[in-house]
Order: sequence, then structure tokens, then C-alpha cells
Amino acid sequence: TTTSWPFAADATFADQLDGLYVPWEPDQVPAPRLLALNEDLATELRLDPTSLLEREGVDVLVGNAIPAGAVPVAQAYAGHQFGGYSPRLGDGRAVLLGEVIDREGRRRDLHLKGSGRTPFARGGDGKAAVGPMLRELVMGEAMHRLGIPTTRALAVVATGEQVARETALPGAVLCRVAASHLRVGTFQFAAATGDEALLRRLLTYAIERHHPHAADTDRPALALFEAVVAVQASLVARWMAVGFIHGVMNTDNTTISGETIDYGPCAFMEAHDPATVFSSIDHGGRYAYGNQPAITAWNLARLAETLLPLIDDDQDTAVAAATAALEGFAERFRAEHRSLMRAKLGLDAADASVDDDAVDELAAELVALMQEHRADHTSAFRSLSDAARGDVARTLALLDEAPEAQQWLDRWSAHLGDDRASVGAAMDATNPVYIPRNHLVEEALDAATSGDLAPTGQLLAVLADPFTARPGLERYAEPAPDDFGPYRTFC
Ligand code: AMP
Ligand code: MG
Ligand code: MG
Repeated sequence: TTTSWPFAADATFADQLDGLYVPWEPDQVPAPRLLALNEDLATELRLDPTSLLEREGVDVLVGNAIPAGAVPVAQAYAGHQFGGYSPRLGDGRAVLLGEVIDREGRRRDLHLKGSGRTPFARGGDGKAAVGPMLRELVMGEAMHRLGIPTTRALAVVATGEQVARETALPGAVLCRVAASHLRVGTFQFAAATGDEALLRRLLTYAIERHHPHAADTDRPALALFEAVVAVQASLVARWMAVGFIHGVMNTDNTTISGETIDYGPCAFMEAHDPATVFSSIDHGGRYAYGNQPAITAWNLARLAETLLPLIDDDQDTAVAAATAALEGFAERFRAEHRSLMRAKLGLDAADASVDDDAVDELAAELVALMQEHRADHTSAFRSLSDAARGDVARTLALLDEAPEAQQWLDRWSAHLGDDRASVGAAMDATNPVYIPRNHLVEEALDAATSGDLAPTGQLLAVLADPFTARPGLERYAEPAPDDFGPYRTFC
């Protein structure tokens, strides 16, 4: 059924990018039940939250009804998975439902994940379980509230079906909102068709939707590439600052918009260690915490390859231009990361200006101490606001009372100026107290899978305001207890 209530949608992707999708309807589900609705996001999208709570609204969120104007499609994309090229991935268990214009005039995709097998499903069942879809909601909201560009969940709806995993699990559909679902893998797919007109249509669409200034340059394809380099350098710098590990940085999970996408095996690092890996399938540590900037650059190189024919007719010229743009990634990343570290260390709020080298040095020394003493990344940075205010006990405890830690604190605090209350307040606003702790995410999702949504609701409420310490929420600020053991995640 098609419905113009509670909202209608657009279909610019379907209209303009024939060749990059298969028209595809989501499966009908037997017994939809709304598990979570993101009312903030609904309002941002100019959708009426109360109407989404009603039966017709839930039917749209789960795929049982199609909004007027929408042309649901399974998107085609290719991708390098762990470095190996797959020419045909695509939405195996998802559809792009359509697009809506948000409160700020931005076009946003509505996408259903877990909505049934598509022609891209290969061996998969096309379905999703409640736990992993709520995980996308929790992680996406956490990232959003930490100020990190991300796709977000509008809703999670239980289907009333069981899905076969290691055990039978309750099924769900996630309604995901994204600036778009264009990925590096979308360009790889378009380029591999050999149809340059299609690649050009994709370029035009991506520029118009995400980086419109590129249209006004001499070489729009190069300008688009430079823009994606910039947003991805900024994104991965932000991941590094909060200790986020994406876990599956394949080129099909690297967006053109610069949003984080695909919360599968991701998790936040606790004890600081660049070698940290959580994903059960990342045997070589390709997507370890410390590798993420280099992997982003690698993925961007794959994007550049697809754009070469559009950058210049002369391929040597195109390669030289794209290489120069890609070489800009490292400097961009360093600058973004430095500016985040400057804020995390309270050095931007200090009276005297602190030069870049001093920021880099202080940050590198601190991180080395954190690694040596296996200090919890989030707690260690947060403890520095108290240290700025004169109470160094927590920082020293996290660094095992090492004399080098006291020496570092002395060197650092010499830069902070006199107004320590302001410095501490500024640091509190940038170093979170609350992140989605692995053991608490698992606890909440296990409860939800057994029918109790309360822990997920509580976790979301805590993560909605990550920078304000609140009494009674101490357990949300602590790393996993030792008996939680090593954490492993699954796609
Ligand atoms: P991901 O690792 O989540 O980026 O997914 C990689 C590919 O596997 C994409 O093409 C997905 O659509 C597909 N996929 C993952 N899970 C399933 C499933 N249960 N059924 C069908 N396709 C799937
Ligand atoms: Mg994916
Ligand atoms: Mg996934």
C-alpha cells in the first residue's frame, strides 16, 4: 500500500541514478511493534512524532506501507572488503525508501535495514535481529551527541518474526537516516560498469547533494575528491579523539558525505592501545584503532581511482592532480586532530597561545603514558579537567602514580594560565564522561532481546548528554569490570 500519511517522500536517487539500483519493495512483516522512536530526529525531519507512533506510521517505518512519492530501491555498490575487491555488494538486506527535506532544508535519506532479501543478498537471509538494530540506534545517538557526523536511527520496529542466527532471535527493521547513502563503493560500482555517462551522473548528483561548491570549479571531479578528503580527515580525527573503533572500514562503508555509517562491529576503546581490535573477523588488525587514519586514506585512494577519467582527459595529469589531493589528507588529518587535542587538553581556553609543536608534543606524551599504563581513554581525558582545577589525584591514579605522569602534568599545566575554572569548564564540554561502554551496551541489548527495553532506554538517556556528570550514573562512566573479559564484536 502507498500512503501519503504520515508523510510523503522524494525519489531523486531513483530518478537520477538509473543504473545504480534495482527497484525493490521491502518485505511485509507480520506483526510490527515499535521498539524505539527517535523523537528528536523525527522533529528535525519535520515529521510529526505522534503520527509515527500510530499504526500507519509504524507501517511506514517497517516497510509495510510505502510513502507517497517514494520509489524504494536496493542500491548497487562495490567495495574493498579487508582489502579485497568485491565487484557486486549492494543492499542485500536493505532498501532506500526515499528522501525527505529536514528543518534546515537538507535532503536526508530514509533507509530500511533488515527489510528482506534483495537481488544483492547472495547467501544472506535479508533479515536483521533486534539486538544489532538497537545497537545501531545506541551507537549512532552516542556519536551524534558527541558531535561526530553520523547516520542516525529514526526507529527500530520489531517484525514479529524470528531470525535464524546462532539461535533464533527476534527480528527487527531499522529505519536509518543519512545525509545520503553514497559511498566510495558507489563510485567503484559506477566506474566498473565502464559507462562514463553514468559515472558523470553520479558525480553531478554527489556534488549537488554534498559538496555544491565543487560545481563552480575548473575541475569538479577533483574538487569533489578534495571535499571528500576534507570531510573524511575530519571524521576520522574525531573518531580518534573519542576512542571510537569502526571495525569494518571497507570502502562500501566510507561515505561521500563524511558521516559515520554502518554500526556493525564498532566499539569504543577503553584501555588506550593503538592495536585495539574488537571485531571477530578482523584477524590481521587491519581496522585496529591506530590504523584508522591510514585506512581512510587508502579508501580515499580507491575513490580517486574511480574519478580519474572525469578529472582530466589526460590521465597522467589526472593522476598527478589526484595524488596531490590525496597527499593533502595527512596534513588535514594532523591539523584536525591537533585542533581536537588542543581543545581536549584545555589549551585553546588558555590565556597564552600555545604553538602547534607544543600541542603535538603534549598530546603524544600523554597518549604514550595512557598506553603504557593501560589507562581508560575516556576517563583519562576527562580527569584532566579536575587536574586543571588543581586536583590531580584521579589522573595520577589512572597513570599508576608514575613520576612521569606528575612531570607531564607540571609541563602541561604551565600552559594553562590563571583562570583554571574556565579552562576546566571548557574541557568538561569537550571530554565526555559517558560513552557507550561495551559491557553496558551488551547488557542493554541482551535485555531488549528478552523483551525488556528499559536498560536500552536508560542508556540512551545517559548518552543523550555525554558531557554533564550526573549523580547516580557512576556505573555508566566506568570501564568494564575485569570479569567482562576481552570484548568481541560481530558484523
Ligand atoms: P556490511 O559488512 O554490513 O557492510 O555488509 C556487507 C554486505 O553484506 C552488504 O552488501 C550487505 O547488504 C550484505 N549483508 C549483510 N548481512 C546480510 C543479510 N543478513 N542478508 C543479506 N545481505 C546481507
Ligand atoms: Mg555496510
Ligand atoms: Mg553492517
